[in-house]
Amino acid sequence: RQIFLNGTFVAEHEARVPVMDRGLLLGDAIYEVTAMLDGRMIDNDLHLARLQRSLSEVEIAMPMPLDQIAKMQVELVRRNAMRDGTIYMQVSRGVEERNFLPSAGLKPGFLAFTQPKKLDENPAQEHGVQVALYPDPRWDRRDIKTVMLLGQVRVKQQARLDGFDDVWMFEDGCVTEGASSSAFIVTQDGTIVTRPNSTAILPGCTRQSVMALATAHGMRVEEREIALEEISGVAEAFLTSASSLVQPVVRVGQDRIGDGVPGPVTRRLQHLYLDAARRGERV
Ligand code: PLP
Repeated sequence: RQIFLNGTFVAEHEARVPVMDRGLLLGDAIYEVTAMLDGRMIDNDLHLARLQRSLSEVEIAMPMPLDQIAKMQVELVRRNAMRDGTIYMQVSRGVEERNFLPSAGLKPGFLAFTQPKKLDENPAQEHGVQVALYPDPRWDRRDIKTVMLLGQVRVKQQARLDGFDDVWMFEDGCVTEGASSSAFIVTQDGTIVTRPNSTAILPGCTRQSVMALATAHGMRVEEREIALEEISGVAEAFLTSASSLVQPVVRVGQDRIGDGVPGPVTRRLQHLYLDAARRGERV
């Protein structure tokens, strides 16, 4: 596998990140993930825009202009002959002697790699997942996509121990989002509900895309908080992310959702999202 590292493509076994990289030592880095289906990147403009926003919020310099980053992604995909999977990008603040306070004007470290996987052939797409419900362990700027992911790693480990596939997190009696996804419910009257964007959640690109598709097809979408007490009475639930696409959720904590099988609104959104993705241009 070829890795993009600081301006050049190198074989994975030759790719070396300095020990004093701030991303490695302090979690001082931003990342982004774009999905690829059958040679087409999905929602990549949204992911690039969010990369730029995350970097700007923590005042890490852009490693290259956005159009060059997009060209790099295409070249990386070409070199690795990837048709289906994910493109991962990470920008670290840079390299210097370990110190919490960064020096101004560091040169950012930039790496990218591909992970091949048939995202639309995941059995979870067909059967759905069971998500555990745990308190949200994260800091107060969840709108920034940083590599400080230990909270999410820990809740996902706990979910595995407790017999679940994944996790939704909550705070102040309401769902925030999935451990690596946006959380949605569908009410008994067919309204699609998700939490509004704020510093409490990551503004999901798939979330944005799916909401726009739902609205364009005349479905009702409401942005409001989801109280834990209402989960037992919802008709459907699903989650979205670049790598999970639209994924049905058939259990949330102790509550089985609907009949315990993916519902019609979720199925429709899965199809709408895949259809839209398949209309994109191949790279
Ligand atoms: N929320 C969190 C905490 C995430 O980590 C992710 C993706 O990894 C998402 C939401 C979904 O975002 P996107 O749809 O842009 O992949």
